[in-house]
Amino acid sequence: MNYSHLIKPVLDQDYPVVSYGDGIYLYDTTGKKYIDGSSGAITASIGHGVKEIIDVMLEQAKKVSFVYRSQFTSEPAEQLATKLSQLTQGDLNSTFFVNSGSEATETAMKIAIQYWQEQGIKTKNKILSRWMSYHGITIGALSMSGHTARRARFVPLLEDYPTISAPYCYRCPYDSSYPFCKLKCATELDQAIKRIGPENIAAFIAEPIVGAAAGAITPPEEYYRVIREICDKNNILFIADEVMTGLGRTGKMFAMEHYQVQPDILAIGKGMSAGYTPIGAAIASDKVMAPILKGSKQIMSGHTYSANPQSTAVALSVIQYIEKNNLVQNAEDMGNYLVTKLTDLQKKYAIIGDVRGKGLLIGVEFVSDFLNKLPFKREVALTNLILERAQVNGLLLYPSATGIEGVGGDAILIAPPLTISEEQVDELIAIFEQTVKSLQNDLQVNGLI
Ligand code: PMP
Repeated sequence: MNYSHLIKPVLDQDYPVVSYGDGIYLYDTTGKKYIDGSSGAITASIGHGVKEIIDVMLEQAKKVSFVYRSQFTSEPAEQLATKLSQLTQGDLNSTFFVNSGSEATETAMKIAIQYWQEQGIKTKNKILSRWMSYHGITIGALSMSGHTARRARFVPLLEDYPTISAPYCYRCPYDSSYPFCKLKCATELDQAIKRIGPENIAAFIAEPIVGAAAGAITPPEEYYRVIREICDKNNILFIADEVMTGLGRTGKMFAMEHYQVQPDILAIGKGMSAGYTPIGAAIASDKVMAPILKGSKQIMSGHTYSANPQSTAVALSVIQYIEKNNLVQNAEDMGNYLVTKLTDLQKKYAIIGDVRGKGLLIGVEFVSDFLNKLPFKREVALTNLILERAQVNGLLLYPSATGIEGVGGDAILIAPPLTISEEQVDELIAIFEQTVKSLQNDLQVNGLI
């Protein structure tokens, strides 16, 4: 087959052609088997080829796949929105459906701005964010993203929203350590707000655990309480981007539960439908909806496929599957097991600098000098080397090198489907060890460590 008309991530690179998926495994057309160690892009969270979901897809398609949201509502869309309001914390009761994570964060941004406009406040338009973050690829979402490599080409079109440091304890931006740091990386937000002026800021957005931009950076326990207080004190909304962490991935239904902090708006995507159909959502609190309900009574956003019956039916069945099979608990248990195994490997292989994360969202950062935490030089392209070698060995991982040149370095995410068993974690770890061992060996031979 000729794939030359398809624009692939790297145009002149060969990619295996997928044949089918079964549970945590994927098979290519040559018959080669892979462990889906990253659930694709942290998406296929209930594994591949789940019959219950396929049945729901078929049944819904037989009834109706698409209706336009300004002409019809549908039972699956209504039920999914109700389910999300039950699953989320506090008064996060109103859901706006979109089709991707980028659309979810961009919608969250627009709802935040609209919230202030509906109260007659027209100046609160900026959305502050952190460096080493990723909120999506569309221009609004990229404006909020502190991922320098992904921003680089479009800087003239982007707002300069990334403002404060990431809570990157392994390489503390203040050269301190928790708790002596007094969470300066959080209180930095207060200074930034004062500098820019709270009257110009609609919201602050953050990923509870940083995913794509920096290998599962996990802030200390009180971090989000401090952030929440600063937002409240300054009259600024707090948006949690749970596109990667939401729906059980971190061992809680939503990662903000670890921190016992409720955001004003929650963005979700990816694992919400576990990859069976594209869908995302922005979920707003009653507080945020109140002036909109009193005012224009419309969220000024929307996409043709928003709230379509097919995707909402699938997402609802995925959530039911997660609940029925206790997958949130399994994510916590298997995550703890995985971290124990990775920490054992860290003692054996000096290139493993840090292991972090929660549940089944685990980051591994690599270093050329363990004691001094020295990152590899960019030209070594270590993340790619790990990824390629793991793939040859039958394990798929997710690249998560830090989004800022010269700050931090190479990292990957290990985030298998939440259905993974202990034996399968052992299988994953065996391939990961084989990969790290051979790579460390070659790096030694070539004088790179
Ligand atoms: N937010 C976060 C936290 C993400 O991890 C991602 C995707 N990596 C996005 C937003 C964008 O989602 P999508 O690729 O579905 O547009």
